[in-house]
Amino acid sequence: MQRRTFINRSSTAALALALAPNFFIQEDTEYSILELMGKEDIKLYGKGINLRKEAHDAFLEMKKAAYKDGIDLKIVSSFRNYDRQEAIFERKFLKYTDVDGMEPADAIDKIIEYSTIPGTSRHHWGTDIDVVDGYRKVDGDVLVPHKYEGDGPYVDFKKWMDENSETYGFYLVYTNEAKRKGFKYEPWHYSYAPLSIPMLEQFRGKNIASIIIREDYYGAEHFTMNFLKSYIQNNILDINRDLL
Ligand SMILES: [Zn+2]
Repeated sequence: MQRRTFINRSSTAALALALAPNFFIQEDTEYSILELMGKEDIKLYGKGINLRKEAHDAFLEMKKAAYKDGIDLKIVSSFRNYDRQEAIFERKFLKYTDVDGMEPADAIDKIIEYSTIPGTSRHHWGTDIDVVDGYRKVDGDVLVPHKYEGDGPYVDFKKWMDENSETYGFYLVYTNEAKRKGFKYEPWHYSYAPLSIPMLEQFRGKNIASIIIREDYYGAEHFTMNFLKSYIQNNILDINRDLL
């Protein structure tokens, strides 16, 4: 296996290395498939943070720095287990098919604009966060892209994260590139790269599609191998290249 370090990645990463001596990709840890699919209890740290130790520590450092610039990094969502993701998927599937009368395949396509198939969420890893600025009082849903641009309430937050998050190891996952397929632009979803890069590498090495196709919940009976393969290609792997 080709060994990688963050030193080669960018000057920001080199700076991060200077700031945090532990800022290395931890590629020696092995993760079980159950762990990668959110089916195992993992040790999580921090009230209202709920991340793996290294990600938690890095987030706290980033949060302290953001405070100094008048921004309160507030986590909306971090670790989510398989059962929670299954409940989200089923609720949406039943609404789109039963209430809205959509065909199952169309309903699944609509679900995977923003939500994952259970077992494939990066939120299962304890490395990824949906984060906003807690100082801003915002009406309605906070996880909508237009609130992060123009004269939206999270424009300062977005600018701060653009300039600083990578210094702490946090990278935007679902970027705003026109050519990117899979999940839509999520200006709130960041991943702690030193852990999530090796986790993704191990995850893609498993035969994910053949596991998912055997799962048993509302909607799962409509998955085909072709659908799952393109889902993995587009939704799991067509992300910010710095995270691959
Ligand atoms: Zn997210």
